[in-house]
Amino acid sequence: MANDFQFDDDDFAKDSGAGSGSRVKKEFDCPGCNANNPVDETFTDGDEVRCNYCGCEYKALINQEGRVRFREL
Ligand SMILES: [Zn+2]
Repeated sequence: MANDFQFDDDDFAKDSGAGSGSRVKKEFDCPGCNANNPVDETFTDGDEVRCNYCGCEYKALINQEGRVRFREL
């Protein structure tokens, strides 16, 4: 075959876990008080998170590059 791609699907799927560039997150920095919050369960785009320190709730918006932004609820 002319097209000799070496593309490993399994490797790609493995990358959907938490990590940089991933859209699934295990922690976040509170935009209100700057505290780092680990979460019990992962969260992803559209999920709501709550800061353990100041109690503020935010909706997480995660873009394609894995950057997280928060909108206060
Ligand atoms: Zn906070």
